Amino acid sequence: NAIFDIISFMLFKRLEISGFKSFAKNAVLEFPSAISGIVGPNGSGKSNVADSIRWVLGEQSMKNLRGKKGEDLIFAGAETMPRMGKASVELVFQNSKNQFKLEFDEIAVGRRVYRDGVNEYTLNGSPVRLKDIVELLSKVGLGASQHHIIAQGDADRILYVSPSERKSMISDALGLRIFEIKKSEAERKIEHTEENIKDVESLQRELVPHIKYLRVQAEKSKGVSELKEFLDNLSKEFVRRELKSICHEEDVLEKEIKPIL
Ligand code: ATP
Repeated sequence: NAIFDIISFMLFKRLEISGFKSFAKNAVLEFPSAISGIVGPNGSGKSNVADSIRWVLGEQSMKNLRGKKGEDLIFAGAETMPRMGKASVELVFQNSKNQFKLEFDEIAVGRRVYRDGVNEYTLNGSPVRLKDIVELLSKVGLGASQHHIIAQGDADRILYVSPSERKSMISDALGLRIFEIKKSEAERKIEHTEENIKDVESLQRELVPHIKYLRVQAEKSKGVSELKEFLDNLSKEFVRRELKSICHEEDVLEKEIKPIL
């Protein structure tokens, strides 16, 4: 039962919590120095602050947030205060050294959840996807393995993690997560392209016999038009010769008739 929760992170500037767990009213926590301590009696909500940070950074595991469902994160109501419809947290980082590679002095990462379970993410107030937040945070070594958040009684977690979990933590700390995300995205695209190639190949296989048939038909129709032309020429020649012989016979007959007349 700690009376202290220590938050130490050079990039943190401010945390705004509203409707999250025990924080019914809007609470603003400033982090002016490298190490900040949150002091309060047992059950006063110190770990809820850590949960809110974990959550706004994109945590998806309800177990890690000490709840069962999304609604557990929303203020459930008290004698003097009705329950709330949504929980929202905004964590502001300083970006004076452009650690996030974005042209802003401050980077505000926000998350909201409603009672129907819908989650929304924002970056400096604009709606973004979870993926955008994950990518952005991985650039500064804040990845999904949460090696940077050590909960109560959790200190030995890092010492006893499996080799693959340790690898994941080191990847996060070194900012390699972004490359892993990009790699798996590229792999998905390759897979998709391979499927498209397969589709095209099978279409090609289906079309080959049809193309062959059309080629034969085209050859045949070419032969037919050649024959037609030949026949045309023959019939023209026939008519020409017939005309010639008729004219000749006409001449002969005229010559024969003239003396009789
Ligand atoms: P400790 O020192 O014992 O670890 P703590 O100060 O870290 O305590 P938290 O665990 O942060 O305390 O807060 C626990 C309190 O938060 C409990 O009183 C609990 O009722 C309250 N709480 C948790 N979820 C909600 C919620 N959804 N709505 C209202 N109150 C909540």
